[in-house]
Amino acid sequence: MASLLRQSNRAGFMNGLGRSQDEDCFIEEQVRTDRLHQLFRQSFAAIFGSYFAAVMLCWVCWDRFDHQVMMVWLLVLAASSLLRVKMFMDWFRCPGSERTPDRWERRYWITLCLSAGVWGVGAFAVMPTDDRLSQTLVILFTVGMSVSAVSCYSAYRYMTMASVGLVLLPSTLWLLFQPSPMQVGMALAVLVFSSFVVSATRKMSDALEKAFRLTREMERAHTISTHAAQTDELTGLMNRRAFFEHAQQLYAQCRYHQQPLCALMLDMDHFKQINDTYGHQAGDQVLRQIGGVISASFRQADVYGRLGGEEFAVLLPNTSLETALDIAEQLIKAIAGLASDPVQGLTASLGVASTHNQDQDLHGLMNTADKALYRAKALGRNQVAVAE
Ligand code: GH3
Ligand code: MG
Ligand code: MG
Repeated sequence: MASLLRQSNRAGFMNGLGRSQDEDCFIEEQVRTDRLHQLFRQSFAAIFGSYFAAVMLCWVCWDRFDHQVMMVWLLVLAASSLLRVKMFMDWFRCPGSERTPDRWERRYWITLCLSAGVWGVGAFAVMPTDDRLSQTLVILFTVGMSVSAVSCYSAYRYMTMASVGLVLLPSTLWLLFQPSPMQVGMALAVLVFSSFVVSATRKMSDALEKAFRLTREMERAHTISTHAAQTDELTGLMNRRAFFEHAQQLYAQCRYHQQPLCALMLDMDHFKQINDTYGHQAGDQVLRQIGGVISASFRQADVYGRLGGEEFAVLLPNTSLETALDIAEQLIKAIAGLASDPVQGLTASLGVASTHNQDQDLHGLMNTADKALYRAKALGRNQVAVAE
């Protein structure tokens, strides 16, 4: 019953895929950041595109629009576009770690709504009330603007909808309440068109979000599986395969720089007895502690891992045989000092070898260290021996 309760509690923190809520939140945050980056990547050209569209509309309708209103519109639009350019400049200069949704989304929303609002209200203001052709041209340009909004802001569904609404609605709503059926028809056509835009926007932003999430989940799964394939579950050290992969690189590096490389092989003494006397779990606990001692004792440049059972190996680059011997002695002392209740008097034997006095490849070096280890065992255990 207690274990059932524990399981249901655990389930409360895990989703269907076995991920914890923390991991889910982390992935959600990454997806949010990916969307933001996509938004900035996609929309820089939109600033110039929208200004260019306004200039073209004014040019085409030069004789039909009120020049004063037109100038005010283009000036205010230029100011709001400059604000957006400034925001993009800040974004490009900002270090990657600071390009977060919390810092940038609000700013983007404000500048986008400002410039889309200026576009929509300005287009409505320049549109003459008594000239159908100008009205049609204004509507055509606003529709063109909405299509480009879908392609620029598709990572953010509500941003696309807000910018489309702000650009289209002022002129469209005005037309909708005019007495002429032709004007009402045009407004209705725009509204029908907008509904397609809204639906396309939803599908595109959903698809993008799904793609970002899948990518992040795959990256995470890959990191977890790579880590699992290289790590010894019990001690958290590198497993045999990872140890030899890293050892090979270190060996090549030392050879290239003509530095000596020392190998230590460690084997716990009478470990079978420990298992037999105190049980396998107590033995596991000792191995965990040995893993802790090893990872606390060595440098970042050293390579160490559990080769299997109660056997560990360490490679010390650019280290003399004397230093390696000292280190091995200290390791024996640290193991003897381990308090691993109920197991008492833990001892280990170590074999040490170096490339310094003998030119040999990695496996030769490890074999020599292994032979030294056997010597240490034969000499009575709980000691360090050097290859003869
Ligand atoms: P020696 O001093 O000669 O090395 O004696 P030993 O008993 O340590 O050597 P032997 O190789 O005969 O036994 C190793 C033991 O380590 C046998 C096995 O039960 C135990 N062992 C191997 N892997 C694990 C493990 O993951 N957990 C535990 N608890 N025991 C393990
Ligand atoms: Mg042993
Ligand atoms: Mg052994």
